[in-house]
Amino acid sequence: MNVELVAIGTELLLGFTVDTNGAEIGRMLADIGVRVTRRTAIADRTEDIRNAVAEALARTRAVIVTGGLGPTRDDITKHTIAELYGVPLDFDEGLWAGLVERYRRAGRVPVESNRTQAEVPRGATVLPNRWGSAAGLWLEDRARGLVVMLPGVPLEMRNLMEHEVVPRFRQRASGTVIRSRTLRTVGVAEAALAEQLGEIERDIAPVTLAYLPQAAGVDLRLTVWDVTASQAEALLAGAAARVMSHAGRAVYGAEREDLAAVVLEAARRRATTIALAESCTGGLVGARLTEIAGSSDVLLGSAVCYSYASKTDVLGVPAEIIAEQGAVSEAVARHMAEGALRRFGGALSVAVTGIAGPGGGTAEKPVGTVWFATAMDGDVRAARTVFFGTRSEVRERAAQTALRLLLERLQEMRER
Ligand code: ATP
Ligand code: MG
Repeated sequence: MNVELVAIGTELLLGFTVDTNGAEIGRMLADIGVRVTRRTAIADRTEDIRNAVAEALARTRAVIVTGGLGPTRDDITKHTIAELYGVPLDFDEGLWAGLVERYRRAGRVPVESNRTQAEVPRGATVLPNRWGSAAGLWLEDRARGLVVMLPGVPLEMRNLMEHEVVPRFRQRASGTVIRSRTLRTVGVAEAALAEQLGEIERDIAPVTLAYLPQAAGVDLRLTVWDVTASQAEALLAGAAARVMSHAGRAVYGAEREDLAAVVLEAARRRATTIALAESCTGGLVGARLTEIAGSSDVLLGSAVCYSYASKTDVLGVPAEIIAEQGAVSEAVARHMAEGALRRFGGALSVAVTGIAGPGGGTAEKPVGTVWFATAMDGDVRAARTVFFGTRSEVRERAAQTALRLLLERLQEMRER
């Protein structure tokens, strides 16, 4: 079964409101195998609503519209669609009584314009709204197909979808699902990752693969359509295994898993403790780790050392090395990593020092240059990366890279 979504509201076009309803409905329908083939956003204008709904019906014969069901003058969805279907609006005494009762419980009395909310296109099924005052409507005929009208308020839309629409759609859908699985990667750019995976799309068909790049890494999203739930699980598991075998260590987790949580868990399994030394990330690495409850058994401390003096005083970086090589240098990163272990104890440390920009870059050390060092058992390793992006992207990427480097060192150790 295919469905189109039409989001009604001038505020959506002006950008005041983001069409989160469309995204939510897409996820809910995918779960029952109903495919959203198109999403449209339009203004609160009769002509636009009529055209958008008529065109969508002509393509798919099933449309869900959201918004414009309220009592105000800009709420014209119901009238317009009733007109399109050639049916009058009938005043529904039951619906009105419910509305009056709802107001009474709140110690209020509905105003005259609320009466429009009890009007129902003839032949439509009322989808009761216990979460707000605008009922949903299910209007269907043989000639045009189905229009489901839902209020724009996200909470009301969500509940009506869950309690009224999804159960009805499930009966019509063929018992299939649309399912996705996300593999999260770090440290390999999108194009390089695509090379590494090669012609994987052929191997994993009918599962499809999408690359979703973000500042902190590329998510690989696997999706399969029109299969049963158990087939979907098997197909996705097979495809995920194939992707992992090609992408190797770039994959650190699945779905919404956070690299910081993966690092903490890896450290815990090895009974290892961690110390940090941060310059250009200004505490972001520590924030990522401490955001996760229970991190105190792994993270001992973090030194945010921005000035030269603090790098020397707190972490023991020799002042002459900073003077000779600059604060953003391999030698300083190495000294910072060792200094963090001295300062806080711990088995493993990571240090970050770089130029986040927008100023401060030189030909030799352009904006985005970041030196990292990890230290463990007297083995200090340094790495340099030049990140693209704005200041905040450089900082976010640097923090993510520091976590990746910690994970790599941890993975070399045996689990206890
Ligand atoms: P009400 O009866 O409460 O007036 P309604 O059906 O008339 O409901 P709208 O007036 O269009 O709905 O919108 C109500 C609220 O929901 C507004 O704050 C609007 O910004 C928000 N909203 C509308 N459409 C969407 C959407 N597609 N995604 C997210 N929020 C939306
Ligand atoms: Mg409204």
